[in-house]
Amino acid sequence: MIKNNNKFTQILKLIISLFLIQNGFAQDQALNLLHVQDQVYMLYGADVNVTVQIGDNSLVFVDSPDPSVIPQMMSLIREISDRPVHYLITTHFDPLHVAGNDILSTMGDSSGVGVFRPDSSVAVGGASEGVTVLSHENVLNRFYLTEHDIPSLTITNTYYSKKKDFFENGEAIIVYHMPAAHTDGDSIVYFRDSDVISTGDIFTPGLYPLIDSDLGGSVNGLIDALNFILDLIVPGPFAEGGTYVVPGHGRMGDEIDVVEYRNMVYIVRDRIKNMIEKGASLEEVIASDPTFDYDTEYGGHRGGPTNIEFISSVYQSLQQDMD
Ligand SMILES: [Zn+2]
Repeated sequence: MIKNNNKFTQILKLIISLFLIQNGFAQDQALNLLHVQDQVYMLYGADVNVTVQIGDNSLVFVDSPDPSVIPQMMSLIREISDRPVHYLITTHFDPLHVAGNDILSTMGDSSGVGVFRPDSSVAVGGASEGVTVLSHENVLNRFYLTEHDIPSLTITNTYYSKKKDFFENGEAIIVYHMPAAHTDGDSIVYFRDSDVISTGDIFTPGLYPLIDSDLGGSVNGLIDALNFILDLIVPGPFAEGGTYVVPGHGRMGDEIDVVEYRNMVYIVRDRIKNMIEKGASLEEVIASDPTFDYDTEYGGHRGGPTNIEFISSVYQSLQQDMD
C-alpha cells in the first residue's frame, strides 16, 4: 500500500513537473507588454525589446520586432489604445531592430487603427503617410556604404544629425545621437515626462556589449554614451526607481544597473589598455583572462558576445584609437 502510494506520488510529481516545464517554456516564448512608467511600455519576449509610448494622440515606437510577432504585439497594444502610429524611431542600423518597420509604418492613419485589433482579422491596411520613421543620418549612410541584407529604405524616412526633439502625446521626446558607441549611428530616446530612456544596444544588461568597429563603434564612445545616460538619470528615493531604462535586449533597469554595466566596461577597458601599453598581443590579452570576474554575469549564456568576442572588440577599438 505504502509502496503503491509512493509510486502514485512519483507519477503525480512527474506529471506536475512536466506541466511546469511546459508552462515555463510557454512563458519564455510569450510576448509581454510591461508597463514601465507613465505613458511608456516595453514589449519583451521577442528577439529585441520594443519601447512604446501609448498616449491620447498616437503610438510612438522605438525599434520594431520581427514581423511574425507584430500581430500579437498589436493585439496587446490594442487592448489599451486604438490610436495610429505617428513615430517609429530606429536606435541603430541592425536588421533585428528594424525588422517590423515595413508593417508598423503602414499604421499611420485611422485605417491603420483597425490593424490587428483583437476583433479584427485584417492583417494589413493603413497608410504610410503620417508615420515619421526617424533615425540618425549614419543609419542612412550605413544603408548605402555597408554590406547588409536589409531590403528596403523604409527602414527610415527622416534623419537627424546631433539631436532631435518633438512633442507627442503631451510630452517632450528627445532623441540624442551617441557618437561612435556600439555603432556610429546609435540613438537613445528620452521620454521626459514619463522619465524613461530607451537605450538600444548601448546598454544590454546580462550581455557583453557588441562594439562593432566595422560600423564605427568604439569602446571609449560606448563609455561616453553610458555616462551620458547616467547624467540624464535621476534616481528615486533610496536609489530605487526614478528614471527607468529600457535596454535593446535584457531586462529593464534603473540607475544602479547602468552604473554596474558602465563600471564593467570601464574596468575591462582599462585592463586591456594597460596590457596594450606594455606591448601585449591580442592572444596574450585573451590568455590573461581580463573578464574573468564578469563572465558568469555577461559571458554569452543569454546570447550576445562571448568573453573572447568582447575582449577582441575592445582590443581592436583601442588599437584603432592609438593608430
Ligand atoms: Zn540588438
